Amino acid sequence: METKSYDVVIIGGAAIGSAAAYFLCQNDQFDGTVLVIEKDFSYQYCATALSAASIRHQFSTAENIQMSQFGTEFLYRFSQDLAVNGDKPEASFVEKGYLFLSTPNGYQTLTENHELQTGLGANIKLLSNNQLKERYPWLNTSDLAAGCLGISGEGWLDAYGLMQGMRKKAISLGAKYIEATVKRIVCKNGVATAVELEDGSIIKAGAIINAAGTAATKLAKSAGIELPVESRKRSVFYIECPQSLPQCPMVIDPSGAYFRPEGKGFITGIAPHPNSDPESYDFNVQHELFEEVLWPILAHRVPAFEALRTGHSWAGHYDMNLVDQNLILGEHPELKGLLFANGFSGHGMQQSPAVGRALSELIIYGKYKSLDLSRMGWNRIINNNPIIEKNVV
Ligand SMILES: Cc1cc2nc3c(=O)[nH]c(=O)nc-3n(C[C@H](O)[C@H](O)[C@H](O)COP(=O)(O)OP(=O)(O)OC[C@H]3O[C@@H](n4cnc5c(N)ncnc54)[C@H](O)[C@@H]3O)c2cc1C
Repeated sequence: METKSYDVVIIGGAAIGSAAAYFLCQNDQFDGTVLVIEKDFSYQYCATALSAASIRHQFSTAENIQMSQFGTEFLYRFSQDLAVNGDKPEASFVEKGYLFLSTPNGYQTLTENHELQTGLGANIKLLSNNQLKERYPWLNTSDLAAGCLGISGEGWLDAYGLMQGMRKKAISLGAKYIEATVKRIVCKNGVATAVELEDGSIIKAGAIINAAGTAATKLAKSAGIELPVESRKRSVFYIECPQSLPQCPMVIDPSGAYFRPEGKGFITGIAPHPNSDPESYDFNVQHELFEEVLWPILAHRVPAFEALRTGHSWAGHYDMNLVDQNLILGEHPELKGLLFANGFSGHGMQQSPAVGRALSELIIYGKYKSLDLSRMGWNRIINNNPIIEKNVV
């Protein structure tokens, strides 16, 4: 049995794993070795590749807003900063904003969130019912009080392109990627010291990052840690509309349904009711959810959607943090050497640059330097002190 050793071993090489590898390797103050272990180099089933690939600053938690603001800055510089030998990666950022709609019942929350977001420098405009009507004549505003529109910094992108850009740059800076499956995390006296692969080989590590998405819970268990994260299926549907919807942003309906332009049409989705949202690992698309729940909501909000045509659809999985739908970042107080970055609950793609940078800082400096994410650590979970994110889509 072969034993190798690296300063940092990252389990999972999609958005979060590749961001961590990139931020470690590009830092002059880090001269260690980085190994990324990814079980599937096709990336066809990872959340990153199956996501709705959108970025917003409209959250109710300050850290989520700040992480996405950094995500936007990262996207602005992406092609330039992550070029490899003059080859510029493309994340195809479309900066057309999110529009969060609210009924009179949700108005107070909308305005409170707006105050927090703009206080942190986000460029979000509160639109009255009349302003919504004027700007979006195709929108049914009859039951709406107001909406919040991202004027800049928000939109959608090519998530696969973002991930591949970070991966390729990390490799060019010295990170090593291997295609293999980690079976378990090896611990000794309260320290995670190595990983064991499916083939039985052991790889020693100075630090280990658990960036395995929905598989993170099983790996945490192998290290004796209960991670309150479960896999939840989310389907995405491509639709075409007979009528054009000028200036259409990513629209978030008060029901939680979303739609945004994609190609000649739109993509759309909605979370199932909590009572029919079990832990799930299959990729069967929830067509009945579209027919019975989503389509009526879409047709109510945009009457032209009454005559929509459906196209390609797919399903992926959220790594859902059951405690508060926010990420769990950093070491567990009872286990040194294993850093978690899990439980993103549907907003991890946009947070990947900020989280990759944060993980690199924890490893290099032993603390956060750019953005203090201490509140996102394990203590709130252990002390049952959740930070509830109200804007989970
Ligand atoms: C339908 C859908 C829509 C979404 N929309 C958005 C959105 O609009 N905006 C947004 O920001 N986020 C969105 N998300 C969430 C986002 O995609 C995730 O939060 C983010 O991609 C998580 O990245 P990750 O690297 O942690 O996980 P993943 O992308 O799932 O990657 C985990 C990787 O670990 C590998 N792995 C797993 N187990 C092992 C093992 N034992 N050994 C080795 N490798 C292993 C897997 O192969 C995989 O490549 C969406 C997700 C879904 C499913």
